[in-house]
Amino acid sequence: MFRTHNNGELNLKYLNKQVRLCGWVHSTRDHGGLIFIDLRDRYGITQIVFNPQLDKALHNEAQLLRNEFVIMVEGEVKQRPKGTENPKIPTGEIEVIAKSLKVLNSSLTPPFEISETTEPTEELRLKYRYLDLRRYPSAEKIFFRHRVIKCIRDFLDKDGFVEVETPFLTKSTPEGARDYLVPSRLNPGKFFALPQSPQLFKQLLMVAGFERYYQIAKCFRDEDLRADRQPEFTQLDIEMSFIDEEDIFRLIEELVVNLLGQTLNIEIKKPFLKITYQDAINRYGTDKPDTRFDIEIVDLTNELKDSELKIFRECVGSGGRIKAIFTPSPEKFSNSDIDELIEISRQSGAAGLTYFKLHKEEIFSPIKKYVPQEKFKELRKKYFPNKDTLCLIIADKGEIPSIALGLMRLKVAQKLNLINNEAFNFLWVTEFPLFSFNKEENRIESEHHPFTSPQDEDIANLENDPLSIRSKAYDLVLNGMEIASGSIRIHNNKLQKRIFKLIGLSEEEAQKRFGFLLEAFLYGAPPHGGIAFGLDRLIAILSKCDTIRSVIAFPKTQKAICPLTSAPSEVDERQLKELNIKIRE
Ligand code: ASP
Repeated sequence: MFRTHNNGELNLKYLNKQVRLCGWVHSTRDHGGLIFIDLRDRYGITQIVFNPQLDKALHNEAQLLRNEFVIMVEGEVKQRPKGTENPKIPTGEIEVIAKSLKVLNSSLTPPFEISETTEPTEELRLKYRYLDLRRYPSAEKIFFRHRVIKCIRDFLDKDGFVEVETPFLTKSTPEGARDYLVPSRLNPGKFFALPQSPQLFKQLLMVAGFERYYQIAKCFRDEDLRADRQPEFTQLDIEMSFIDEEDIFRLIEELVVNLLGQTLNIEIKKPFLKITYQDAINRYGTDKPDTRFDIEIVDLTNELKDSELKIFRECVGSGGRIKAIFTPSPEKFSNSDIDELIEISRQSGAAGLTYFKLHKEEIFSPIKKYVPQEKFKELRKKYFPNKDTLCLIIADKGEIPSIALGLMRLKVAQKLNLINNEAFNFLWVTEFPLFSFNKEENRIESEHHPFTSPQDEDIANLENDPLSIRSKAYDLVLNGMEIASGSIRIHNNKLQKRIFKLIGLSEEEAQKRFGFLLEAFLYGAPPHGGIAFGLDRLIAILSKCDTIRSVIAFPKTQKAICPLTSAPSEVDERQLKELNIKIRE
């Protein structure tokens, strides 16, 4: 037997017991001839004492120990002398007086200290991830991930869901990214695509009559790694038959409430708020509103369209709108803060930004000459009663004012510390448009994916006015981040063909790429729908990590490489030949 106990479990109950422990040398100290070793394993740290007066030879051996050596120690549990206890750890009242020592393996000096307090650079941590994961703060995130996934599995299992694995070597499943391709040696010139999601297979499982499917599924998307993305990532993927949107909302709310209760002991109220896509854009300027603070976008077109300011009149005259947000604490905004906000408005395409400050009944505004003072007070009375305010105003076309103000509301909230970081604000965004217009390619494309059902009452208009069609797609947003996304699907062959046609797939191409799905729909496909969570992101948010890399055991960098294994790497000429592949210069 390697060990009788682990390093986190011994306490005064075990006094005078003979024990055998294994682990890594966390630290060594020499105090007045006694050698103290902190012995570490996954469970904790136990203090081992080597006393030269009890065994000189053993003490000499202990002197050779270095950090990260792997050892086995036998000894007796003793109470630590008064004043030397460590109340911070569960084993802090005892120590083990060593009687024998075996070095199971030595270690080079690690490139960084294995400790909770020092934080090496990420580059180094990823290259030596196996050492980084010896550090409790890093390992704990992976253990937490395990608890989250276990909790989800238990919940869905109880609710009759079946976990099914779907293929990695498959055909393209479009989710808006590039595919990772895998050449087929046995079929020269042909390629598999790694799945961007299990979308088509989960739909086929519904045709197969499984009714309730889930999978903790690896997905692969070859994207430019903007923001916090990974080329391979994990979804919690769900699909159900004979359901509508409300059934999905109910299931997911229960799952999420249960998850936060069990893993974080946090109580969340059901049902979650819902907002349509169009409302979200109008009120928050984004399809993922952060509702942890109150500022909302308001439409001042009617109130300001007749003012003397030419830009306002012209903007409204050509179909634009005048929109604004009212923020508290106008005195906290210097001119350079306002310049920064103007810069943000420019980046989102707005021609300009204007504002007024109402502070202690005094008005400051670049448009003071054109708008009567009473107007400012009247607006404040209506939208921000009885308080000092900075009102930021944008007049522009289409959704530009909303989108620009949406970014500003976030900026302002951060600056004024309006965001409650402890809150978990869940929000459903519904009725996404079915299509959007891809300007670069000058064509219509699916907003979610082409398997999403239109709203029933919009189907008649599909071909006439595709960009006005609302879909049965929904997102779950948490604190301004999209954490899950799904839809009720098309289950009718003819409707699916119409959609393919609208996004520019010829009948022939639709058949080539998705013929198997179209055919399956001819064999009694039930109405169905589902959703998928970005599981890495969800776990990162729950464990308050800045990046999803922290909750992935072996993540890739922003450049999509693995610093530990140096993947991707060149391959042998022989391998390429077998695959019939030539590298172009
Ligand atoms: N397959 C979709 C995605 O990856 C999720 C869904 O529609 O269920 O976003």
